[in-house]
Parts: sequence; C-alpha cells; structure tokens
Amino acid sequence: MSSTLLRLGLWIILLVVILYVLQQTYEEAPFVDYFAPAMLEKALVLGGLLVIAGIVFRLMERGAKVVTKNRCVTCKAPIDKGAIYCRQHLRSVLSREDDRTHMTRVRK
Ligand SMILES: [Zn+2]
Repeated sequence: MSSTLLRLGLWIILLVVILYVLQQTYEEAPFVDYFAPAMLEKALVLGGLLVIAGIVFRLMERGAKVVTKNRCVTCKAPIDKGAIYCRQHLRSVLSREDDRTHMTRVRK
C-alpha cells in the first residue's frame, strides 16, 4: 500500500518535471497549451501529497509491525513497547532472580 502510493507520487512528480521541461523547451509548439502551468502545479501538489501519504502509511505499517512483534516471551500476551514479559511473568521472573541472589548470599 505505502510503496504503491510512494511510487505513484514519484511518477507524477517525474512526469510534471518532464512536462515542465518540454513546455520550457517548445514554448511555440501547439501541444504546450495542454500543459498549462496551473495544471502542472496541481499535478505537482497531487504528487507531493501522494508521496507524503506514502511516507505516513509506511511509518504506520512499521509501527503496526513493532506492536504485533512485542509479545510476552512466556505467554504471548501483547505488551508495551520495549518490554519482554507481561506484568505477571515479569513478577515471576523478578522473584526467581531474587531467590537466586538470596541463595548466593546463603552460600557465602
Ligand atoms: Zn506472560
């Protein structure tokens, strides 16, 4: 979706640039009337909007991917960005870690 929008926007901008160059080169030619500057401007704005929309969509797709990837290692429940475990499993992991340090203290 995002790559299609980006490609379409870039193609439109490229087309506008080509038409602009043609217009500047053949100012006397009869077909130049078809590519009025106002129309080229509109097309350029449309292309720019498509590119921006494509970038926004791409960022959103990337964000969605991050969200779906972030799940608790143990129970696969969806969790916050940057977390490894859900609240319940984080607690159990921390208490297990706590026991470990207590054990080493006892061994000393
Ligand atoms: Zn969990």
